[in-house]
Amino acid sequence: MSSTGGGGGDGVVVSAAAAVNRWNGRPYSQTYHKISNKRTTLPIRHKKDDFLQLLNTNQTLIVVAPPGSGKSTQIPQFVLESLYRHDRTDQKMMIGCTQPRRLAAMSVSRRVAAEMDVAVGEEVGYKIRYQDCSGERTVVKYLTDGALVREAMADPWLARYKVVIVDEAHERSLGTDVLLGIMKESVLRNRPDLKLVVMSATASEGEKVQAYFNGAAALMKVPREKAHPVEIVYAQESVRDYLGAAVRKAVEVHLCEPPGDVLVFVAGEEEIEAACREIDEQVGNLGGDRVGPVKVVALHSALLETMQEEIFDHSRRLPPGRMIVVSTSIAETSLAIDGIVYVIDPGFDKQNVESLVVSPISKARALQRSGVAGRTQAGKCFRLYTERTFNDEMPTETDPEILRSNLANVVLTLKKMGIHDLVHFGFMDPPAPEALTRALEELNGLGALDDEGNLTKLGEMMSEFPLEPQLSKKLVVSPEFNCSNEILSILSMLSVPNCFLRPREEAQKAAADEAKARFSHIDGNGDHLTLLNVYNAYKQNEDPQWCLDNFVDPKALKAADNVRQQLARIMARLNLKLCSTDVNNTDYYVNIRKAMQAGG
Ligand code: ADP
Ligand code: MG
Repeated sequence: MSSTGGGGGDGVVVSAAAAVNRWNGRPYSQTYHKISNKRTTLPIRHKKDDFLQLLNTNQTLIVVAPPGSGKSTQIPQFVLESLYRHDRTDQKMMIGCTQPRRLAAMSVSRRVAAEMDVAVGEEVGYKIRYQDCSGERTVVKYLTDGALVREAMADPWLARYKVVIVDEAHERSLGTDVLLGIMKESVLRNRPDLKLVVMSATASEGEKVQAYFNGAAALMKVPREKAHPVEIVYAQESVRDYLGAAVRKAVEVHLCEPPGDVLVFVAGEEEIEAACREIDEQVGNLGGDRVGPVKVVALHSALLETMQEEIFDHSRRLPPGRMIVVSTSIAETSLAIDGIVYVIDPGFDKQNVESLVVSPISKARALQRSGVAGRTQAGKCFRLYTERTFNDEMPTETDPEILRSNLANVVLTLKKMGIHDLVHFGFMDPPAPEALTRALEELNGLGALDDEGNLTKLGEMMSEFPLEPQLSKKLVVSPEFNCSNEILSILSMLSVPNCFLRPREEAQKAAADEAKARFSHIDGNGDHLTLLNVYNAYKQNEDPQWCLDNFVDPKALKAADNVRQQLARIMARLNLKLCSTDVNNTDYYVNIRKAMQAGG
């Protein structure tokens, strides 16, 4: 092994017999040797020395590099290697790398664990809401930006970290903006030894971040190695049913275009699953194609557990054929999929992860999407909208999420960190004063802030839960209504994707409706009680077959159960007791309703 040993060999070719992994003392596996070659070919490799030198001489460093260059997977390993080369103390030095999306945090940590030849959750781990897969030994931790903000509430100077890497800054997610704000306003000043690396796939956002740090940050640009041409094909006229059009186009590409994988952007989990089924069915019926077998794969964050590794790894796909990936916008820049030659872009996306509203994307994002087609060779992007729509109707950039969000949670978080003057807090894009005022009023209405804007005891407790304030309020007051068990179950069910299965066959649909009706409450009042009934019925036996028989998704219920355990743990820590009114008592539902009404 190399003399530094950092990062586990670092792609250095060594004889298999002699190599021992410095992190766990085990000999390197076959996979390790197989994938370390790939690492050495990534564009970011050529900039490694520059990067480490700049990091050495600057507290804040911005890295701009196109998607697929190796930012997310390599930069944390470069940092790790240099930390452990320069400082051989036993003191653990942790590197945190944030991602706006849960699936990205999870997928990238898996890849990096494989590259370092360690198990996920040990030296390399991840942390997302309701799931912490990191531990004592973790030195590289991938986490959602929201998860790091939550850590900062308890540990305002991020004392456990030596280097914080804010990845995908160009996405300008709410969590990223809050994180950059607290870094600039407090953490960096109080922690001169802490380094901040901000990574962006676009130069414009990179430069904006540099200006935000008053030019005191260094900027490193990694040029695109080979920009392969991408032919843009616009629709002749606007389409109404974008999902149908996307499916038709995917089938057409498969029939008419030479080999190469296809990426279809679709806006929601249910739509993705539906599109996959349709494409599968249609190409399956075609027979005799020219590129070999087709594999249709869905990519969205409800697939956390079953993430399809073959999406990334061509060598696992035997025999070769065509892969059609149907994905949320996560495939724009967060997950670099190699081998995509055709992109189908309907021009829509959801406003944010929680939102149900589908709206047009910006020109900048349309460019990111088409760019995916040119990463490995010349490609084609089919835009399912007209050139006129692109030119005249699409906004140039997407507004940062902070300008479109309800800020109650952000305000509560900052108050908890002891930041009081929110109007003068230096956000990169400050939200309108009215939006802040609205959030302050909302929190005051909930009793989380007093009339002077100070955090109340109730507000303190609410801030401990990873929930929106209207929800955490219900939970905190629920013991007073003698129904905290029930409110906990309801909120857990609300925190996971819709649990009701919708079968495709007409005959089954009626049966599904009937099953759902059996769970609903007699007075027809409310989905919440229906969810409670489903959860309670599930807990009788926790049987997946029972779930399927009753048209509810066992994965959703299992996830809800996990959420419930975690929230219950926070309640125990806050001495909030778990209690229920007797089901036969006439007040059983009345109490639940009262608690649910707290917080509006
Ligand atoms: P960037 O962050 O600059 O977009 P990444 O570091 O995510 O780039 O990816 C670098 C390379 O590593 C890409 O070629 C990508 O295909 C590969 N890669 C990333 N994640 C995985 C994975 N889970 N499995 C296999 N290869 C991966
Ligand atoms: Mg990345």
